[in-house]
Amino acid sequence: MRTTGQIEARQPSYRLMLSVFAVPGWSRGRTLRAMAIVAVAYYIGVRIGLALTMTTQPVSTLWPPNAILLAALLLTPTRAWWIMLLAALPAHLAGELSHGIPVTMVLSWYISNSTEALIAAGAIRLFDRQARLDTFRRVVLFVLGGVLLGPFLSSFLDAAFVMWNHFGSAGYWEVWRTRFLSNALATIALVPVIVHTATARLDRMREIPLRRSVEAVLLSVGLLGVCIVIFTGTIAPQNASVALLYAPLPFLLWAAVSFGPGGAGASVLVMALFAVWAAIHGHRPFDATSAHANALSVQLFLIVTSIPLLTIGAAVAERRHGEQALRRSEERFAVAFRSSPDALVIVHRSDGAIVDVNVQWEKMFGHTRAEAIGQSTEDLHLFLHHVEASRFKARLASDEQLQEMEVLLRSRRGAVFRAVVTAQSVVMMDEPCVLVVIRDITERRRAELELQTQRTELAHLSRVALLGELSAAFAHELNQPLAAIMANARAGQRLMARKPPDSAEVRNILEDIVADDRRAGEVIRRMQALLKRGELQLQPLDVNEVVREVVELLHSELIRREVLVHTALAPALAHVPADRIQVQQVLMNLLFNACDAMAEQPREARSVSIVTSGTLGAVRISVADQGVGIPEGKEEQVFEPFFTSKRHGLGLGLSICRTIVSAHGGRLWAVNNADRGATFHLVLRRNGSSHDVWTLG
Ligand code: ADP
Repeated sequence: MRTTGQIEARQPSYRLMLSVFAVPGWSRGRTLRAMAIVAVAYYIGVRIGLALTMTTQPVSTLWPPNAILLAALLLTPTRAWWIMLLAALPAHLAGELSHGIPVTMVLSWYISNSTEALIAAGAIRLFDRQARLDTFRRVVLFVLGGVLLGPFLSSFLDAAFVMWNHFGSAGYWEVWRTRFLSNALATIALVPVIVHTATARLDRMREIPLRRSVEAVLLSVGLLGVCIVIFTGTIAPQNASVALLYAPLPFLLWAAVSFGPGGAGASVLVMALFAVWAAIHGHRPFDATSAHANALSVQLFLIVTSIPLLTIGAAVAERRHGEQALRRSEERFAVAFRSSPDALVIVHRSDGAIVDVNVQWEKMFGHTRAEAIGQSTEDLHLFLHHVEASRFKARLASDEQLQEMEVLLRSRRGAVFRAVVTAQSVVMMDEPCVLVVIRDITERRRAELELQTQRTELAHLSRVALLGELSAAFAHELNQPLAAIMANARAGQRLMARKPPDSAEVRNILEDIVADDRRAGEVIRRMQALLKRGELQLQPLDVNEVVREVVELLHSELIRREVLVHTALAPALAHVPADRIQVQQVLMNLLFNACDAMAEQPREARSVSIVTSGTLGAVRISVADQGVGIPEGKEEQVFEPFFTSKRHGLGLGLSICRTIVSAHGGRLWAVNNADRGATFHLVLRRNGSSHDVWTLG
């Protein structure tokens, strides 16, 4: 009695044995199935081959097993070839030993048969990994490697084996020739049919139109009929000539042209079976000489006719597939073209004449397709400006691909809209054309403009608000020069009242008055500059200078708030393209926030440091304070609109600052200091556009 333990113990060795037969990408079931199919097919092939062997000859007139083996190798991965060869061995032994052939001869033949299949499959696989005979190139490769090379080379070995075993009475070269021809014939008759059947998509069978099925039936009936008439010798007239062999040729050609290499292969197989059978049985039209001569002529005839038939079939099928693929891609293009949500137009590259337009184009321009075809963009006055029209044409005429050109276009009714056009070279009906895509961006531009205006307005309002905070400081700064002017004017009056007036002293006083007035004027000028409403004006800016200006501007305010400012400005800092007023605004905002953050600190701890630094492509301004710092994890959130921790704060300052910096292509971010307070970093690039290099030390 077997215990469970015994069963478990046996399991791994059984698995190990099966794993030897593992074919990459194949399931175990599939491998076993393939082995079984090869064995059965090979066995049947041996029986047919032996049935078609003449008594006077040691080798058959048509020997299918080697062709079956070759087809099996072509259909399996190279690493599994030995499995297929092994699967054929029992079939080979069973088929031939039962026929009374000596064991050594049987084993020798197994070697020469395997050699043939390996040479042929190896030669084909060397140049093509696909097991398909669907193109001209593949069929030529198959004929050269499979039909000619494999049988040619292996027949030397085979004939030598026959001589060595003293099997039959034929000489070396006779055996070699019969073996070569019989195997070449079997290969060309069988392999295309097997490979085609194995690789055919069964799910596509249902899609075959009725017309094609009827045609296939008619072709089969016709071919079988002709073969029966010619080769069975029953109906053919007594004086039938060898020329009758050509009677099936129209059917073979029909099969090749209409059904490709698969059809050609199948009809060649049918004719080969009939012809070989007739030849060895001495039927018409082969009854003129010996059976041996019959066999030779039928082999040569079939090989010579099959090769061009197969290649014609492949060439025709390849062309047909190419045309079908082209038609399908044209259909797909037409569908995509018609239903595209963008306006599309195809124009001739040479003269700009319109070849086709889609529905969206008709809607956009108000011209119908019929009106547009044949006209040029000038004829339809599509461009608002001549300059843009000629620039567009020039770009099309030059071979370059047109990437996003913004133009103003006009519809039939005169409506003007802004659009982005892109163009791509295409070939339509063998003519070089251009596919132009037109995208209306009027709305997008309007929205962008609106957003821009709103941003400018917001930035302006925020500056006005900042100035509001500075009003006390400004009043103080204005008071000083005004009081000095007043005092000096009074002193002047007094000096003028003296007799004689002291004109030298009066001149000094007047000079002081002018200097004080200038100081007052400077304060007012700065205020006016900040109050001005304006668009972004990028000019080469010395960042250090802006820092100095801001510190000076906030001078009184900083004194009032008892905050000390340290500056460490990098010497010879490169200029960056920026708007002076807006950068001032950002710095003022950062300084105000720093002061707010330190409001609760003891006086001696209220200090801000402003550091500038630069690299090859960017400059950085860092404003570090000793305040309360940003709440943990909120370093990004502080830039969101309406985020505020102040009782009367709006939470808009930093969000506006970031918008301003982004508009410059720069970056603004915040980090908490290791000890106390926060540092805000502002980076501006020298080429103005944003991206990565912000991690300055
Ligand atoms: P508001 O000043 O009106 O609050 P901001 O956008 O300028 O608006 O600032 C948003 C918030 O960011 C502030 O309320 C504060 O909580 C935080 N914050 C800004 N600057 C600093 C700083 N230097 N230190 C600590 N927190 C700051």
